[in-house]
Amino acid sequence: MSSNAEDMMELHWLFDMLQHIDVGLVVLNDKYEIKLWNSFMENHSGVSSSIAKEQSLFSVFPDINSNWLEQKLDNVIALRTSIFISWEQRPHLFPFKSYRPITGMADKMYQNVALRPITNADGTVKYVCMVVYDVTDVATNKESLSNANRKLDFLSKMDPLTHLYNRGSVDKKLKSVFDTFASRGGSHSLVMADIDYFKKVNDQYGHPAGDLVLQAVSKVLGSSIRKTDFVGRYGGEEFVILLPNTDASGALFFCESVRKKIADLKIKTANDEISVTMSFGISEASRSDKVPCDWLGRSDEALYKAKGNGRNQSVVYSRE
Ligand code: GH3
Ligand code: MG
Ligand code: MG
Repeated sequence: MSSNAEDMMELHWLFDMLQHIDVGLVVLNDKYEIKLWNSFMENHSGVSSSIAKEQSLFSVFPDINSNWLEQKLDNVIALRTSIFISWEQRPHLFPFKSYRPITGMADKMYQNVALRPITNADGTVKYVCMVVYDVTDVATNKESLSNANRKLDFLSKMDPLTHLYNRGSVDKKLKSVFDTFASRGGSHSLVMADIDYFKKVNDQYGHPAGDLVLQAVSKVLGSSIRKTDFVGRYGGEEFVILLPNTDASGALFFCESVRKKIADLKIKTANDEISVTMSFGISEASRSDKVPCDWLGRSDEALYKAKGNGRNQSVVYSRE
């Protein structure tokens, strides 16, 4: 075979492979008219090569943002440089369906698209090649991983029984409110709340009933606070409520209203109807607090007083 014939054969093979490669190949001229449309593009768009050719890309896909893409294509020709469009920037440049029968994660194909200048023999650039990669697997894996991470992050902050924030979140929030007070001052209140005689509830009705009580009380606490407030389960049947920009008398008013709501609860279990009461200790952040724990300690002292005074009451910390 002559070397010319060999070259022809090689060209034929190459062309055949490019036609059937599992990557989209499109060649556009400087008027965005389609000059080449391989079988990947045919299969995913449902538009045959003979129909696509001589049409503008934007009449085949009217939903593509033409201003945005034209500018990119113009730049490729003018600057003779490649441009890469990642799925993270634009997940579905071409509106192709994704067929993922097993994972069923995505119904649209995620794509990375490279725009490359095609240089003619005389060195001029009048055509652009678009190379379209199906990256649905990578994209959906990455997205499901970051969804899972978001979920884990959320779960790590919450108490599973009460769906309130957990101890770790309380400590973080306490520090942040304390830091705000340290830098900007203001009146901020911290409440420690504890269910009265909770041990008796468990002893009398059983631990699962005790759990129901914790859930019912938490629901009242969670639904009573404002958007800027915070409530978390500090441990067992103890809760911390942070009321930023609220002085002690405002906090006392809040606690008394919550205390009454809780005392009015009738918590139904399979066999019983349980009522509980709750005690509240309140203190405002003070310049004498060296660390957040000092502030918490004063609310705890007030709570201790509320217990000592007979429980089912709210006490504001006072020094004596
Ligand atoms: P006081 O009025 O002084 O607060 O008395 P109390 O009985 O509530 O206080 P104490 O701290 O002695 O009892 C708390 C009880 O809470 C003991 C523990 O078994 C129970 N407890 C802690 N966590 C849970 C929980 O998740 N579920 C249930 N059912 N009980 C819990
Ligand atoms: Mg208790
Ligand atoms: Mg307790």
